[in-house]
Amino acid sequence: KLSRRLQAIADLVTGVDSMIDVGSDHAFVPIYLVQQQKVQTAIASEVSSGPLNISKKDIHQEHLDSQIKTRLGDGLTALKTDDQVDLAVVAGMGGQLITDILKKGQVQLQTIDQLVLEPNNDEACVRKWLTTHQYQITQEKIILEGKHIYEIIAAKRGRNEQLTNEQLIFGPKLMLEKNAVFMQKWQWQLTRNQQMLQQLQQAKILDQTKIAAVNERIKLIEGIL
Ligand code: SAM
Repeated sequence: KLSRRLQAIADLVTGVDSMIDVGSDHAFVPIYLVQQQKVQTAIASEVSSGPLNISKKDIHQEHLDSQIKTRLGDGLTALKTDDQVDLAVVAGMGGQLITDILKKGQVQLQTIDQLVLEPNNDEACVRKWLTTHQYQITQEKIILEGKHIYEIIAAKRGRNEQLTNEQLIFGPKLMLEKNAVFMQKWQWQLTRNQQMLQQLQQAKILDQTKIAAVNERIKLIEGIL
């Protein structure tokens, strides 16, 4: 059984024959998708051989060697020219790293129509890259697992989208839905920023630039809640 986060990621994979899971670790997502017949074939890729070996073992145990291939390599560059994948999942990494993987994988991305991304932070950076590189955000999810809140972004190749600063930060779909987890995340962020402001204002030497930035962030969050 997948964790809530991985299940939410897997649920966004629909209508494709083949996918790659970049930084797959245990290959839980590709194994689930093939077993559920949501995809016919998959590739589990890893930059380091330790996790790749775990993937290989798990895939073998499930007798899925013929449907799930493994690849050692950096991001999407691990793909070979005859690997035809329709969708890439990149999950459980920082937003900057995910953006770097997309940047470095632009040749491979030309034939990949859909993306499902789960950045652990810096979601705005990922959204910015997507919407300036011909991907349109089609669905977003925000979920609570344990003490952590995760955002998952699904995108389709299309045209560039102009997003406002608020849409980049809060998520164009998430800010329309404003579900309970979304409210919890931003309520918590508001408190955190208010505490930060208080500390900045009590410091011996006032950092006005920082104070202005935190104030602006607070106003932005108050505007959405
Ligand atoms: N995707 C899984 C998930 O969401 O549960 C595993 C997340 S795990 C925290 C991050 C994995 O990404 C690690 O196994 C790491 O080796 C791999 N990774 C980091 N940078 C990578 C890159 N540039 N290309 C491929 N894999 C990478």
